[in-house]
Amino acid sequence: MEPRGWLPLLLWLGLMWPLGAPSEPRLRVFVVPHSHMDVGWLHTVQESMQAYVTNVYNTVVEELTLEKKRRFIAVEQEYFRLWWDGVASDEQKGQVRQLVAEGRLEFVLGGQVMHDEAVTHYDDQILQLTEGHGFLYETFGVRPQFSWQVDPFGASAMTPTLFALAGFNAHVISRIDYDLKEAMQKHQDLQFVWRASRSLSAQQEIFTHVLDQFGYCSEGFNWDGEAIFPGTPLNGLYPQIQIPVTEDSIPNFTSLLLNNVLTRASWFRTPHVLWPWGCDREFLNASLQFANMDIIMEYINNNTSEFNFSMEYATLGDYFRAVHSDQVAWQVRDHHDFLPYSSDMHHAWTGFYASRSAFKALARRASTLLYAGESMFTRHVLLAPHPHLDPAWGLQQLQQLRWAVSEVQHHDAITGTHVPTVGDMFVEHLSTGMQGVHTLMASIIQDRSPAHSGKRGSGGTVEPGGRFAVVYNPLAWTITTIITLTVDFPSVSITDESGRPVPAQVQRSKELPSAYDLHVLTTIPGLSYQHYSIRPRRSSQEDTGEPEPFVAKTTQFGGRLRRHGGQVGQSLVAVVNDCYIIFLDLDTNLMHSIWERQSNRKVYMTQQFMEYHANSDVWKLPVSDNYVFTPSGKAKPAWEAVRMEIVAGPLVTEIRQDFYRELNDSEATFAIYSRLAHRPQGSDGELLCHRIEQEYWVGPLELSREAILRTSTNLNTGQVLYSDNNGYQMQRRPYRKYKNNTNARNYYPMVQSAFIQDRRSRLVLLSEQAHGVSSQGNGQVEVMLHRRLVNNDPANIIADLTLNDTSVVHPVLWLLLGPRNLTSGLRQRSGLALQHRPIVMLREMSGKHAPRGSGPRKQEAVTLPPSVHLQILSIPGWKYGSNHTQHLRTLRKDQNREAKADLRRVLLRLQHLYEVDQDPVLSQPVTLNLQSVLRGLGSVVSVEERSLTGTWNVSEMHRWTWSTRDPPRHRGSSSQPPPPPGGPEVTIYPKEIRTFFIHFQEQ
Ligand SMILES: [Zn+2]
Repeated sequence: MEPRGWLPLLLWLGLMWPLGAPSEPRLRVFVVPHSHMDVGWLHTVQESMQAYVTNVYNTVVEELTLEKKRRFIAVEQEYFRLWWDGVASDEQKGQVRQLVAEGRLEFVLGGQVMHDEAVTHYDDQILQLTEGHGFLYETFGVRPQFSWQVDPFGASAMTPTLFALAGFNAHVISRIDYDLKEAMQKHQDLQFVWRASRSLSAQQEIFTHVLDQFGYCSEGFNWDGEAIFPGTPLNGLYPQIQIPVTEDSIPNFTSLLLNNVLTRASWFRTPHVLWPWGCDREFLNASLQFANMDIIMEYINNNTSEFNFSMEYATLGDYFRAVHSDQVAWQVRDHHDFLPYSSDMHHAWTGFYASRSAFKALARRASTLLYAGESMFTRHVLLAPHPHLDPAWGLQQLQQLRWAVSEVQHHDAITGTHVPTVGDMFVEHLSTGMQGVHTLMASIIQDRSPAHSGKRGSGGTVEPGGRFAVVYNPLAWTITTIITLTVDFPSVSITDESGRPVPAQVQRSKELPSAYDLHVLTTIPGLSYQHYSIRPRRSSQEDTGEPEPFVAKTTQFGGRLRRHGGQVGQSLVAVVNDCYIIFLDLDTNLMHSIWERQSNRKVYMTQQFMEYHANSDVWKLPVSDNYVFTPSGKAKPAWEAVRMEIVAGPLVTEIRQDFYRELNDSEATFAIYSRLAHRPQGSDGELLCHRIEQEYWVGPLELSREAILRTSTNLNTGQVLYSDNNGYQMQRRPYRKYKNNTNARNYYPMVQSAFIQDRRSRLVLLSEQAHGVSSQGNGQVEVMLHRRLVNNDPANIIADLTLNDTSVVHPVLWLLLGPRNLTSGLRQRSGLALQHRPIVMLREMSGKHAPRGSGPRKQEAVTLPPSVHLQILSIPGWKYGSNHTQHLRTLRKDQNREAKADLRRVLLRLQHLYEVDQDPVLSQPVTLNLQSVLRGLGSVVSVEERSLTGTWNVSEMHRWTWSTRDPPRHRGSSSQPPPPPGGPEVTIYPKEIRTFFIHFQEQ
């Protein structure tokens, strides 16, 4: 809509403007136009596309094309790609290419979404960034160099490291603790150089800008009104349209702006003011935005002597280039993060660490399935031929899940802060993607097993109930673990590929009364398969001479009431393996203590479910909701009685504790199933021995309850907790007292691990999904597992933003107890063993006996040293060549070319798991010959080292250096990473993440 009536105003302004150039203004205001577009929050992706996203890109491209001086930054790639692929005309695409080439439309961050930083795993952060960057590089030849993390609820110390590795020159964050931000403003500390990894230090430092208290919204300066859902307004007018800039209104606008600019400028060290222009869903009518702002800017710029500042449209890059040229010696911040985040004294944003717990679990399960699918597919493609599987179809299945997993890293997705309909959309995308990868996996198995091709009856008689199990180890280490298969008969025979019986144990399933859990001890080399045949035994007389799996023995201990004092610990029962003796107290049916056998120390330890009660009346007190945790007091026990049984066998002993909310309840509300594995003689099972696996059942909860599992020990911890940033690095969390909200502000996210310790022992908790974690007393650690909250906040009710989560959740934690040096060495690898458990695929048996020797074609294992983790092995299917100059030339020559996906380029990312000085042996740098460690995949032809997301050749990536007050302390003498390998030999230093393109010889 073309604004009318501007011409007279412009003439009038023209008459007022003084002739001649104004003197050089003191301040430069960089107006950075942007639109914050949540990839699902109150509306689905499709609804958002319809209501505003399409309009944003249509009108912004038009307005930028009309006026040279205008700029825009684009952030969320999922939306941009949907517009590019599904909406944009050829003409618009040409305009976008032009704008991007001229630097007027700038892609910042470049991920599919603006990811949450508290509850996401770094694997998924890398994935979503890689997805977006791959598209941008492929399409425009550009590589984002600045971040824009302006809405996530707190800032992690992992993010700056990732962005440095991706080649970024500066990082923007916004939501940090309110009182800290106030202090930083006062001391002009909002900009600093962040050395966010203790081990990588200056090598991966990044200049960081914290948006001031005005955040990313420019209140009072948005003229295009509010988006309405489901779509365009009938009369063409959007609600809440701001009064336009006119002769009458311009003094108001300029004085508002002047105050704002001067206030902001006082918080920064340089005379450059970053002025984010936009907000949520803005620029849906960019012509109104720019037409009004053009006038204000022109007016200010023609009166700079009066205002003492100038204004210009800018990209984020324009702003940072100006700051960088200022030669300020910046202060250095260390590896501490900005979590948790409180927006004011009553609102601690620590509730979302556990909101929608089942969804958080699904998001991580999808991610680990993708991880396994990627390496299975890569191995399969490298091992031609593929009789039944079209690699292009396989890639499509993976791409679908990559997109879905990327999407849910959004800061209103995995956080659980979205409305139920949006949650349904996320779940649907994940489920469809997972289904596709399951189908792909089944095809890979079939492709490799001609004799198992499922032709019923072709190889003999059909044996009802018989199964083949194919088990895949997605980690690049040999693992020894116990897998559990569900069978519907208690009497079975299980044999491996060569027909030998394998150690197994059968017991009644705790989930399905008519089924049985078959525990099987397995050892699988890295990226390899194991095959088992499981056959029912029809009668006890049928004697094949093979030993049967042991049937576990169950002992019932009845119910015990919750004690309110009195004698406990008089009568104990012990569950033993090579590493631990767990004592259970028969007076209470709770855990009593654990004897850690290596250090010969007994640690008193008890576990129980408790609940925080939340206020639900917003008119009386602050409430707990999806985002914030505001308990109305201390946690209270949430049960009155516990029943216990112990199911003992030669492989695993399981302790089952059911917690009843009320004495007469027939169903338990909570349960703990603890498993201790018995390492068979002579087997390698260090990790398996040193863990107590726990699975919980929690729910359904009553209204306004937040459920925790509290583990109390006699460790003298000084109430210091350690919890991780995104599974990558640990943070020390001493308990702090505050005027308000002390319980809630001492909650932290746990993405993969947390621990408490005293001088001798450490208790480590490993999790497979994000939770909240806290230490509310000496020797205690509690994990928030589930939340059910409804309140009467009108805004939440209108938006349907409630957390009436009635589900039953089944979180898993593994407990490691032992001397600090032992648990320090085991923690990361055990965490990965939990995250990437073997994939079990079952197929119905079609012949009487498993065809021997006709299993999948053997591929050699891939085994890395214990401190190096295979972060990813995949075939991205990118359509660009790795030579940058050549890629740009190709893009210029033929912009609409339909390039084919490169199926020969393998993306390999390796990570050193340990911090400097964490372990005398495991923290050492590791030198690998990639040719020999990857021999199992094929013959390596070439190795190229790339930036984190693959878009830079590392030898061509030169990030900006920033002067600092602290001299950098580099590893060795060089500030740059070591030169890329000319040959296949690489040395990986503590905490490094290194990315490679590997080309293998065609088979
Ligand atoms: Zn947002």
